[in-house]
Amino acid sequence: MQEKGISEKEIFSELEKFSAMDTNFKKVMSSMCTIPHPIAVKAHQMFIQSNMGDPGLFLGTCEMEKQVIEMAASLLKHPNPSDAAGHLTSGGTESNIEAVYHMKARHPGDKDTKLNLVVPATAHFSFEKIANMFNIQLRKTDLDSSYRALPRSVESKIDENTIGLIGIAGNTEFGEMDPVGALSEIAQKYNLPLHIDAAFGGFVYPFLKDQNELNQFGFNLPGVTSVSMDPHKMGFSVIPAGIILFKDDSVLDHSLDKIKVKTPYLTSKFQSTLTGTRPGSAVAATYAVMKHLGREGYEKNVEHCLGLTEHLFKKLIGIKLKPKYPAINILTVEVGGVQQTTHIRRCLREQFGWYVSETKTKTALRMVLMPHVTMEDIDQFVLDLKYILEN
Ligand code: PLP
Repeated sequence: MQEKGISEKEIFSELEKFSAMDTNFKKVMSSMCTIPHPIAVKAHQMFIQSNMGDPGLFLGTCEMEKQVIEMAASLLKHPNPSDAAGHLTSGGTESNIEAVYHMKARHPGDKDTKLNLVVPATAHFSFEKIANMFNIQLRKTDLDSSYRALPRSVESKIDENTIGLIGIAGNTEFGEMDPVGALSEIAQKYNLPLHIDAAFGGFVYPFLKDQNELNQFGFNLPGVTSVSMDPHKMGFSVIPAGIILFKDDSVLDHSLDKIKVKTPYLTSKFQSTLTGTRPGSAVAATYAVMKHLGREGYEKNVEHCLGLTEHLFKKLIGIKLKPKYPAINILTVEVGGVQQTTHIRRCLREQFGWYVSETKTKTALRMVLMPHVTMEDIDQFVLDLKYILEN
């Protein structure tokens, strides 16, 4: 570190340079995050000093966190939203870690038993980290033709060392939702906790116009014990903002005592969250944007993103490709084998500046249609893709 500090002018001219190296999200269709809502940014700024790890000092932010949890629980059809437990996290990874942390602590197996977790084969890579961290085996289930977990496969993976089940509402590669109704029944039958990873879909599925049996999930299903959903993805909040929700305190009865630690030098007596210091600014941003947009605002946003997705779907068909019919605002399209797909992805990036990703469950290009994408972007993208395919 240098001995003397530099002036504000100098530091901001440096920051401008770094900022210019970052994306402004133009031409980004690989990310599940987007530009935060200005209201979220303002609230974030206002609560920049707030620390949820020392709640007694920040009673106002604590109250906002409580209300965010209640709003999220009501969005997820909780019969009594005020009974839901939970808190904000840094995102889907941390929320999933906490959910499994509780599952493991609840299981009576001794330390010599290798425990396992049943996850769909489409599970986000955070579960690989979790398996390594907690030394548990991931049992991946078979999928149906739409890349959703097959209930009979889920059931076949369960044994006495299973700590719980995972379902996904909006899987990372395709945006598809597992058959959560069937998973809920299996969870009840085997008395296992069921965690729904709705990191992406949590701010999408509840706002679909067409609500049917296949695209609903939540705490109305009796087997669901926890859900993760990320305000920093389709929730329009700032990074880092995730939410972990537990059905109620009783879900934690068997695990909390093993997890919570005394916090003698803070304003609280115990802490059971994974992290200590937690940003109250993210709580304020999430509270502000959820209150500001309301159900109506999020419905409009989802409708807008689905409109973009449909537009891209039709345009791809127009150039003789066969995209997979999208469940939500994630679209995949096959353009050849693994090498060809990687080559096309690289050309899109190097020749035209587009960021897209590739799926591994099946080989395809993957585009996430976030609110920052425009119809004009899509038109240009398809022209550029066509050019690459033809040359
Ligand atoms: N779960 C799902 C379904 C996701 O799609 C993602 C990220 O894309 C995560 C979890 C991890 O979220 P984060 O990167 O915020 O930790």
